[in-house]
Amino acid sequence: MEGQGPGAEMPSLGRLRGFAFDLDGTIWAGPTLLPGAGELVEGLRSEGLAVVFATNSSRHGARILADRLTAMGVRAGERDVLAAFDLVAEEITRRLGRVRVMALATPDMDELLAAAGHEVVGVDDWPRAQAVVVGNDPAFDFGRLRAASRAVAAGAAFFAVNMDPRYPVAADTFDPGCGALAEAVATAAEVRPIVIGKPFAPLFERTLERLGCSAGEAAMVGDSLGSDVDGARAMGMFTVWIDGRGEADRGDAARADMVARNLPELHRIWQNQRKISGMTPQPAQ
Ligand SMILES: [Mg+2]
Repeated sequence: MEGQGPGAEMPSLGRLRGFAFDLDGTIWAGPTLLPGAGELVEGLRSEGLAVVFATNSSRHGARILADRLTAMGVRAGERDVLAAFDLVAEEITRRLGRVRVMALATPDMDELLAAAGHEVVGVDDWPRAQAVVVGNDPAFDFGRLRAASRAVAAGAAFFAVNMDPRYPVAADTFDPGCGALAEAVATAAEVRPIVIGKPFAPLFERTLERLGCSAGEAAMVGDSLGSDVDGARAMGMFTVWIDGRGEADRGDAARADMVARNLPELHRIWQNQRKISGMTPQPAQ
């Protein structure tokens, strides 16, 4: 699909069966729910469309994020959220079976790996690791970098939750992201990681499974061109860039199938195209 640039309205949006939303910068900004998020999500659901939230989260899994959405006023259960954090254990199983894994991440990651049947290996025990996972590790230091990079250089499979350079903690404040830590390991080990999060394929593949539709029937809505839009486009999904800062005139907006300034604008466009497509439900008799 060719990008249509800002303001363009392609009727195909009205025919889609599933919508995936990024969280940070799209549904919420730090502790604040962004305007129109609840109305749009409920509007889509009320017409029987599938909605999931697809996030690169490297610190929290679906349960915590779903609770947070619900507390903010967007009804969500654990099955409605796909977090890169949760998917890494499954991806290791898919590729390697149950193995010995060393994780540079929050302690929750060790629990997740163990629950998935992997044996968790401590940093001092790095020569036994068959796989190394880098998440968002607040205890990251020289010793942990050394252990992870030696294990990967010695042949352990290398997984990163995502490659985001920064982890937003509040407006205008960030922590180093999972990608910053994974790049340090990759540089020292001279091995590139298998990445779960956007723009890489695993998170999108699981998102489409959860939506229950093909890539051509689903939209990805997000505020990041490099992660949400480019990744979803490579999968063949319809892409909506939420251009909250009004940067569309820079020209790279053409990377997305559609650009909206915010969720209320997207909601209006979707309602209009739904009517044009003749998909509006018949009134009850
Ligand atoms: Mg985002």
